[in-house]
Amino acid sequence: HLDRIAEVDPAVHAFLHVDTERALNAARAVDEDIAAGREAASPLAGVPIAVKDVLTMEGAPTTCGSRILEGWQPPYDSTVVRKLLAAGMVILGKTNMDEFAMGSSTENSAFGTTRNPWDLDRIPGGSGGGSSAALAAFEAPLAIGTDTGGSIRQPGSVTGTVGVKPTYGTVSRYGLVAFSSSLDQAGPCARTVEDAALLHEVIAGHDPMDSTSIDVPVPPVVAAVREGKTGDLSGVRVGIVTELGGEGYQEGVLSAFHEAVEQLRALGAEIVEVSCPSFTLALPAYYLIAPSEASSNLARFDAMRYGLRTGDDATRSAEEVMSMTREAGFGAEVKRRIMLGTYALSAGYYDAYYGSAQKVRTLITRDFESAFQTADVLISPTTPTTAFRIGERVDDPMAMYRADLCTIPSNMAGNAALSVPCGLAEGLPVGLQIMSPALQDHRGYRVAAAYE
Ligand code: GLN
Repeated sequence: HLDRIAEVDPAVHAFLHVDTERALNAARAVDEDIAAGREAASPLAGVPIAVKDVLTMEGAPTTCGSRILEGWQPPYDSTVVRKLLAAGMVILGKTNMDEFAMGSSTENSAFGTTRNPWDLDRIPGGSGGGSSAALAAFEAPLAIGTDTGGSIRQPGSVTGTVGVKPTYGTVSRYGLVAFSSSLDQAGPCARTVEDAALLHEVIAGHDPMDSTSIDVPVPPVVAAVREGKTGDLSGVRVGIVTELGGEGYQEGVLSAFHEAVEQLRALGAEIVEVSCPSFTLALPAYYLIAPSEASSNLARFDAMRYGLRTGDDATRSAEEVMSMTREAGFGAEVKRRIMLGTYALSAGYYDAYYGSAQKVRTLITRDFESAFQTADVLISPTTPTTAFRIGERVDDPMAMYRADLCTIPSNMAGNAALSVPCGLAEGLPVGLQIMSPALQDHRGYRVAAAYE
């Protein structure tokens, strides 16, 4: 994999940081274990993995794709990284992303855009485009992403790989640099559903270091994949969400989706239609809640504590240095979100914007609850289009935001959802999204494994 990275990453630019020495040492340690006849630490011992650059890892930079963190080295491992290491996995390096995970194309990275291995002129999705592109380019067999509004699933969809957002609270956020704390969740990126499940069971689990971590058993996702592989979905009710399709969706995406529905029916699933009327409000509500939380979370980048410091000389006050540093260190999209969020939270507007968005969030959760009475899992296209061209949406934030039309509802409700490849449209990958109720992640895995 290191050779493959050296060969293709100059063109793909999936990685921000590759740690050859660390990777080789970790691999040697596994070889020594095998030679000494010791039991492997986990089924994934010795398997290389790439980690999105929003999770801390001691002894390596964590940039979050931002200039403001350039040169910063976290003094500790995130829980996810700690678990990968405990499982004997070989961390290859850190992958590129939209700055602070804000975006759908990796074009918002301060360190250059990642390219889609299917067509280097197209985006690999975002914010975790680096992780998914690394899989699609065979630079790594597994990767870690984070998903606040779709950043694991949408890159999975447009690169023809699998991306899973676990139930909120089941994978620790300790050491995951916060964007929108009530939505952020780390999860597995893989080339097969089974690989994703194996990785899922390595990274999930209760963590006292994260106050939102839930103390429940990890959903049995590996067993569910085994069950799914029998190819029998009889008795499983699959709900098509009426609101997630139709106008604004690429024709090829819709036809791939309808083919997937027929395949699920052929596997024995009962197909039903469900309506979730509040999902049409998910996007505007998300773009009030996520920026509001971001404006608060990003206040810590004050030029004193982390990374970059600009204009620090005896003539300037701390406030001037703070302001100059934030001006120089944050990119346009991050500034846009900080302004949106600060506005939505300000005294005179709080009820009208942030308060209403929270109400919509409750309505979305209720829509899910009622839909899951009729169906065991819900399905939709993962994203309305295939990979678009680099540069095509940079001047149109609304067009960029629409990439997450189908993925955002599951974040709002804290539910589990995944994207699995479902054919091609005009030669580019399409993704099928499968949504499950909270803590029922295994349902989606079962259906995905049967379908795959
Ligand atoms: N594209 C969405 C955004 O820009 C989602 C990002 C994410 O899931 N991190 O906010």
